[in-house]
Amino acid sequence: MSLLKIALQKSGRLSEKSLELFAEAGINIMNGSRKLVSKASNFPVEIMYLRDDDIPQYVHDGVADAGIVGENILMEKTKPLEIVERLGFARCRLSLAVEKHCQYNGTGLFEGMRIATSYPNILASYLEKMKINAEIHEINGSVEIAPGIGLADAIFDIVSTGSTLISNGLKEVETVMRSEAVLISGSALTDEKRDILSALLFRIRAVRRANNNKYILLNAPNEKLEEIAEILPGMKSPTVMPLAMEGWSSVHSVVNENQFWEVIDKLREAGAQGILVIPIEKMVV
Ligand code: ATP
Ligand code: MG
Repeated sequence: MSLLKIALQKSGRLSEKSLELFAEAGINIMNGSRKLVSKASNFPVEIMYLRDDDIPQYVHDGVADAGIVGENILMEKTKPLEIVERLGFARCRLSLAVEKHCQYNGTGLFEGMRIATSYPNILASYLEKMKINAEIHEINGSVEIAPGIGLADAIFDIVSTGSTLISNGLKEVETVMRSEAVLISGSALTDEKRDILSALLFRIRAVRRANNNKYILLNAPNEKLEEIAEILPGMKSPTVMPLAMEGWSSVHSVVNENQFWEVIDKLREAGAQGILVIPIEKMVV
C-alpha cells in the first residue's frame, strides 16, 4: 500500500503547529522531527522534514505529495500548486516599511528607492502592478537592519506584531499580502494517494471545526425557548430537555468562537441561566 508523503517544516514557526494538527487528527508520528523522514504508526502517511523554502519545489517535483507551508513562501516560489486547505495558523502579513521619521504620503515615495527583501518575486509583481520603479535588493534574513546600515531605503518583509520593525526604527506603511499556513498538494497524485489526502482532510476539518466551536448548555424558562433557539446558530437545531423543575428546560447547542460573546450576551438578555461552555474535541458534520 502506498503512503502519502507530506513535507513539513523541520523547525521553525510552522513545525510545532503542523505536528499538533496531525496529533489532534489522531495521526501518531514516530520519532518526531529528529529524523529526515518518519512514518505514522496508524495512518498511511510519511512525513519529510524540510526547510520551508524548499517545500513548494519538493511538492512540485513530486518528491513530496503534499506539504504545509506559509502562503508567503508559496507565492514567492511561483509554483503552480493547489491550496487544499487554509489552516489558520502562522498568520502574518508582508508589508513595506520605511524609517520612522520618513514622511509617508503614498506609494509614490518608493519610486527610485532601494528596497531590501527576502521576497523579490512578490515585491516585483507588486511594484509592477503599482507602476513603481524601484531597486530590489534580495537578502536572506535580518532584512530589518538594512536601512540602519545604509543598505536600503525601505524594506519589504514579514510582519506579525510589528515589534521587530519598531525596535529597528522602522514603520509599516503598506500591507501587500496576508498569509497563513496552507496545506498544498501536487496535481499528479494517484487515486490511492488522493483517497489518503481526502481522509486526512476530513480529519483536519473535524479538528479545526472543533477548535473553532464550543459546546454550550443553559437553562431557560419554557416560554423563552423559542427566542433562545433563534439566537443559537447550532449545527441543526438545539437539543431541548425538560428539567426536574416544572416549566424549565435545558438547552444544548454549538456556538462559533467568533460569535461567542455576542451570543452569550443575547442569551442572557433572553433569560438564559446557568450557562456552561465546554470545549469540543472533534466535530464531524
Ligand atoms: P526555515 O529554516 O524552515 O527556512 P524560516 O526561518 O525561513 O525557516 P520561520 O521564521 O520559521 O521560517 O517562519 C515560517 C513561516 O511562518 C513564514 O514563512 C511565515 O509564513 C510564518 N511566520 C513568520 N513569522 C511569523 C510571525 N512572526 N508570526 C506568525 N507567523 C509567522
Ligand atoms: Mg525559510
